Amino acid sequence: MDNVLELRNVSQVYVNDSRATLAVEDLSLTVERGSFLSLVGPSGCGKTTILSMLAGLLKPTKGEVVVGGEIIQGPSARIGYMLQHDYLFPWRTILDNALLGLELGGRRTEQGIDYTRSLLHELGLGGFEKRMPHELSGGMRQRAALVRTLATEPDVLLLDEPFSALDMGIKLQLEDLVQSTLRSKGKTAVLVTHDLAEAAAMSDQVVVLARNPGRYYGSFLIPPSIRDALPTEARRMREFQSIFDSLWRSLEESGEKGGASHGQELDSRPS
Ligand code: ADP
Ligand code: MG
Repeated sequence: MDNVLELRNVSQVYVNDSRATLAVEDLSLTVERGSFLSLVGPSGCGKTTILSMLAGLLKPTKGEVVVGGEIIQGPSARIGYMLQHDYLFPWRTILDNALLGLELGGRRTEQGIDYTRSLLHELGLGGFEKRMPHELSGGMRQRAALVRTLATEPDVLLLDEPFSALDMGIKLQLEDLVQSTLRSKGKTAVLVTHDLAEAAAMSDQVVVLARNPGRYYGSFLIPPSIRDALPTEARRMREFQSIFDSLWRSLEESGEKGGASHGQELDSRPS
């Protein structure tokens, strides 16, 4: 098995003025190359923390993050990160926004610009290169943000609730578009979402986390019939409901075992 991403016994402790919070405890995870994995779990279970560690933005307090066989020491061009908010600069055109990643990496070349234009086209934004972000709808802006992430040609995409601010119809369209685009390019993806149906419809594997402290709770492999269908088709399939129900139950149980407050303070742990 070719694992492109690995978390090895990773823990993360945040230390503020007078307290330490164990945000993630002893988490191990592997993501196979070209696969789509979703992380679900209650608010505060460490999803964003896990993505930040995978992105190399946050060094684990304990354990290792391995990308393509190497322990990562910091942010890498192999990994792209897309957030819930599109963070397009309002004073830049769509093309210039899409080129930002290449620019920051010192790679704004003719070739890079051509590739970015072709991505804009592929994601239905051909003809909008010179428009400003405020002239676009939320769904179009999020597509522009996806182009910006893909333009640097990362192997892995980390997606933190990228569809959650969108209207239902747009969100469903984007799920299809994102899944088919990433699949056709052979990208590996890790999606964080609070929407269980979205996780079930888009992923090969769904990992459920519990909180207090954030930790692994369980994992579901999505059957091939659903995996191979586009998310909108998957949602209509008969097997879909039972997968959704299992995920729902697991999430409920993880919540019960996790506790109600946010995070776990180290100094309040029983010794
Ligand atoms: P999620 O994305 O699943 O909602 P987070 O990764 O944002 O969870 O947070 C996990 C836990 O770590 C929470 O208890 C949160 O309050 C805490 N936490 C997150 N970021 C920080 C930080 N910078 N400093 C202190 N605590 C933090
Ligand atoms: Mg989060």
